[in-house]
Amino acid sequence: MKKDITQNILEDWLENVRPYAHDGQVANYIPALSRQNPEELAVAIHYVNGESVEAGYTEATFTLQSISKVIALALALMDNGEEYVFERVGMEPTGDPFHSIYRLEKTPGKPLNPMINAGALAVTNMIHGDTPDEKVGRLLSFVHDLTDDHSIRYNEEVASSEFETSFLNRSLLFYMKQHRIVTGSVEEALDAYTKQCAIELNVCQLARIGALLANGGRDLESGRRIIPKHLARICKTFMVTCGMYDASGSFAIKVGIPAKSGVSGSVLASLNDFGGIAVYGPSLDDKGNSVVGLKLLELLSNRYDLSIF
Ligand code: GLN
Repeated sequence: MKKDITQNILEDWLENVRPYAHDGQVANYIPALSRQNPEELAVAIHYVNGESVEAGYTEATFTLQSISKVIALALALMDNGEEYVFERVGMEPTGDPFHSIYRLEKTPGKPLNPMINAGALAVTNMIHGDTPDEKVGRLLSFVHDLTDDHSIRYNEEVASSEFETSFLNRSLLFYMKQHRIVTGSVEEALDAYTKQCAIELNVCQLARIGALLANGGRDLESGRRIIPKHLARICKTFMVTCGMYDASGSFAIKVGIPAKSGVSGSVLASLNDFGGIAVYGPSLDDKGNSVVGLKLLELLSNRYDLSIF
């Protein structure tokens, strides 16, 4: 049943959601993202058997933004182990917007989970490497392994556009440095994080990452283990509980697929025994999730009974 989503069918589904392309707004708090075209829509499915289907403007590239938090978490866990990471970052959803500083005062200083900005900034800070570029270089090599594509880079314009305007993220870092969750220079930590968020790819490459996670962390073609199985499981669990920011609960009910979104308008979904689904549609709702991405995943989930629940 699930494999019935062929190329033609996927094209039809994308046309069904095209009318939503102008609902919501393209992210503008990162100046470089405001130039994205809301009409550029694309979707790809990479099945765990290695086959793939795609529809729309699949040549479009976009930056990972918050989707990078899942990948950085996997690498930080591989670098440091679960105990080290979860001593410094929690496992609970927040129900607050992704850039909120509010809970840090209560915990104190320890972010509630790695999918909100505070947690993600702390996680990136834990990735091994003496300099921001060394950390980002290791992260890029990891992305190359996940996608089997060594051409992927970060977009320098988007990275510096965010770095220059990211005062909330700086505040989160200063707060966590005070509480010794973050070590070293705040500017360097932000430099690594904004470059991580600016890693640029397309829906086909992103869907392959989803399929690899669905495959328990093993490369689909070579069978090589890229992420230990229990760490892939942790990443997917966070995608369920915190992946869609403070819309994770309604997304779990309406769609029920582990997923992570980014403010570039991209969504990464990963479904065990099925594969990865990546959607790109730059217009965002008021929580920062892609309007087209949410709608398309909801339609596919309902039609093909994809919910894990
Ligand atoms: N780089 C973005 C930020 O830190 C990522 C946020 C997002 O995609 N929700 O604000």
